[in-house]
Amino acid sequence: MLYKNTFGPKQPDDMLALTESPRSLPVPIAIGGPCSIESEEQMDRIFDAIGGHITHMRGGVFRQGTYPGAQGSWVGEPWPASAKFSPGWRMDLLKAYHVKSEEIGKPNVVEVLDLRDLDAIYPYAGVFQVGTRQAQHYALLEELGRQDKPVFLKRGTWQKLNELLGSIEYILKGGNTDVAVIERGNVSFMDHVRWDLSMSLIAKLKQLTNVPVIVDASHGTGDRSIVKPMTLAGVAAGADGFLCETHYDPDRSLSDGEQSIPLGEFVDIAESVARLRGAM
Ligand code: PEP
Ligand code: MN
Repeated sequence: MLYKNTFGPKQPDDMLALTESPRSLPVPIAIGGPCSIESEEQMDRIFDAIGGHITHMRGGVFRQGTYPGAQGSWVGEPWPASAKFSPGWRMDLLKAYHVKSEEIGKPNVVEVLDLRDLDAIYPYAGVFQVGTRQAQHYALLEELGRQDKPVFLKRGTWQKLNELLGSIEYILKGGNTDVAVIERGNVSFMDHVRWDLSMSLIAKLKQLTNVPVIVDASHGTGDRSIVKPMTLAGVAAGADGFLCETHYDPDRSLSDGEQSIPLGEFVDIAESVARLRGAM
């Protein structure tokens, strides 16, 4: 069954849940921060610099490696003693991340890798992120649909429009209407990018749904030299916000440095996005 929240012509009745329910997501949405939370000092340097230009802080606390044992930012390190269900579990950093978000006054985005971690994460997360690899983990989506905090859903790298709409519905049908979709690119035959951002998907989502769309040109390119133009392209296509992985020294970032932009460029992109939206 297709739910009326995201499908159909843009008649007020079709979008009842999204227009009349209380929603806390600001538009435009600006998400900045490192791929991985590394330390309190790292957070201070990054968020003190970009805090005035973001609506949400990002930072990976739990990292999942493609192979068990290769845990992204914690490659080569044994799982910490505090590890629960998710690889790379760092409760100390999660708490520090939350303290920083309260200090800056911007909600922090936390990816939920494992449903069983949800209760432990809940007090320290402003927004729950569903990572691309979990985009069709329906039990997780349904559980997040019952939460009273916003959910940022990343499109699966394989997901077509219809499948993505289905994932959105799994969250919405639980009653949580604070949902935004992050377009972060898909697998393709193109080999000049890590994943390929779909501009037409952004435009189509805006045509069909009332769900805010965020363009993630960091994961969607894998190449920091084209993060700015692709972010602006996403906004021109209709995106309500952007996400950029950001680091004071991208080359020394624990993970995804090649697609992370320096702090000054984040500010430049945020200002350019505001100018572009003003001209649209
Ligand atoms: C992330 O944003 O931290 C992340 C892991 O991205 P994705 O799920 O899109 O790969
Ligand atoms: Mn990353």
